[in-house]
Amino acid sequence: MSKLKFKTESKKLLDLMINSIYTNKEIFIRELISNASDAIDKYHFNSLTDKLKSREYEIFVSIEQEKRTITIKDNGIGMTLEELKNNLGTIARSGSKEFIEKLGNKADLDVIGQFGVGFYASFMVSDKVEVITKSPYSKTAYKWSSLGQDEYEVKELDADLEGTEITLYLREDNEDYKYSTFLNESKIKQLITNYSDYIKYPIKMELTKTVDEKEVKEVEIINSMKPIWKKNKSEITEEEKNNFYKNQFSDYEDPLITIHTRVEGLLTYDAMIFIPKRAPFNLNSKNFEKGLQLFSKGVFIKENCSELVPEWMLFSRGLIDSSDLSLNISREMVQQSNQLTNIANAVEKKVKNVLKKTLEKDFDKYLEFWKLYGLNLKYGIYESMGAKCEFLQDLIIYETSHNSYTTIADYVKRMKENQKVIYYAVGKNKEQISSLPQMDMLKELDYEVIYMTDDIDEFVVTTINDYNGVSFQSITKGDLDLATEEKKKEVEEKAVEFKDLLEVIKSSLGDKVVKVILSTRLKDSPVCLVADEGISFEMEKVYSQIPGQSGIKAGRILEINPEHKLFDALQKLHQKYPLSVNKYADLLYTQALLIEGLPVENPIEFSNKMCELIIETAK
Ligand code: ADP
Repeated sequence: MSKLKFKTESKKLLDLMINSIYTNKEIFIRELISNASDAIDKYHFNSLTDKLKSREYEIFVSIEQEKRTITIKDNGIGMTLEELKNNLGTIARSGSKEFIEKLGNKADLDVIGQFGVGFYASFMVSDKVEVITKSPYSKTAYKWSSLGQDEYEVKELDADLEGTEITLYLREDNEDYKYSTFLNESKIKQLITNYSDYIKYPIKMELTKTVDEKEVKEVEIINSMKPIWKKNKSEITEEEKNNFYKNQFSDYEDPLITIHTRVEGLLTYDAMIFIPKRAPFNLNSKNFEKGLQLFSKGVFIKENCSELVPEWMLFSRGLIDSSDLSLNISREMVQQSNQLTNIANAVEKKVKNVLKKTLEKDFDKYLEFWKLYGLNLKYGIYESMGAKCEFLQDLIIYETSHNSYTTIADYVKRMKENQKVIYYAVGKNKEQISSLPQMDMLKELDYEVIYMTDDIDEFVVTTINDYNGVSFQSITKGDLDLATEEKKKEVEEKAVEFKDLLEVIKSSLGDKVVKVILSTRLKDSPVCLVADEGISFEMEKVYSQIPGQSGIKAGRILEINPEHKLFDALQKLHQKYPLSVNKYADLLYTQALLIEGLPVENPIEFSNKMCELIIETAK
């Protein structure tokens, strides 16, 4: 016999389980049955290549009142000594590791179910767990046991066993929890049909019945065994689908959107795709594993088949079962299979269509979806270098100056008769964008402006380029050409009249700006910066955060409002004290930078000049 220590993360997870106040403790049963079913899948899968003896597959659940035990037995793959130590002494699932890192030591775990903690869930209800197991690849059977503390024991066992038998010694009831409810046959039966009905192997239970006033024990198969996705849509209730999802994909919440589709013909497959109501915390991190489960004729083949999911859909969970795939398909073959690519494309289209329909018919739900995964859709467009533009652009929604949310198509429908482009503005939030000086003219003319508040937004519109021939125009870039002919003429004349002044300002700012001009777009604001052709200010900000790209800058044009009192003041100063204009030029420029949310190049100099100004005013 040997005593072994749990690996650190396992120990933490165990502590969490034991001390958990998680109310949904019953999930331990679904976790164990799902492990049992996986183990049989593996046996079956290996039997095809390794010539293992055929077995009548089954999962057997039994309860012993006196001993306070529940036993779950399967005739699946079992575990070798090495596997026992690796699988039950260390955390096998990658998700659990992150889960623990994220949680620290908190025990109020509403999120346990979200991660599907697997085997360790047993310790939520028991103070001792025994596992007896025999792998076809090892000569003897082994017994693993643990009180869920620091260590576990493993010893060889002379047992006549095929597969694995797990016995839970239920804890004594206490004030907070009645563990003995799990000793009730009908309660366990009901939990299994709720959570594990679709498991494709028979789950048998010995049930006590009264026949002729006598108690007799009878073995019954308590699950229907039909994979839920093989049932007709009309046969499945919403609740069943939700339970299946929670069970199969270890979530504790119902999915936001469920897509169940069966296709027969050139390609034949069943697909069940779920969009979770809560995005996994590591969704947008590098180590997030996207993918769907792959089955062939109801037999599990692969867990995270990433080839089935395009980047924009990485948040989706689900499975695909196709009879077109050969059963002993290997990982390499999965990658090469054309069949699989065709199925993936068809499923992608289906999901997109369902989303489009949701957008049109149930906007509130779509908005919930959008807030969770909108960024992924945008990223999908950007990352595809435009290949996914047409496919995805109608799923994008934006807030605008006129509407809470709109699609690009609806924006275009509402465009004014003489409007040629789609106006957009980028900023931190609605309020900041709405107060940009460049909005003045658009507000006056009542043009709708799309508000873009995500870093990726402008990269996405640059990728889309135009929507059915209508191009996008940033309101802080280039000439919007919105002024009337009369106004343009007036400003042109002024520009000639005050040519010297503008030249002085430009020369004092040097390379900081490309040019200094009189503005036709400003109404209430004195100055603004607009970006020259090429990249925009917002893109400059994004680049500034990317190592090695921080030198990329947008060309700056300083626009001065000729109608503003400030411009009169500049003229006067220019006449009286021509040299002072130098100093004020820099103040104006810095002001414009601040409004754009761009960093001030020399804050101390700016502050000194402001002080001088106040001191002079007081003279
Ligand atoms: P997961 O099932 O997600 O991998 P678990 O913690 O539930 O995580 O189980 C850890 C590992 O222990 C499994 O991956 C599997 O290799 C092994 N295991 C658990 N239960 C059984 C079983 N009944 N038969 C064979 N192996 C099992």
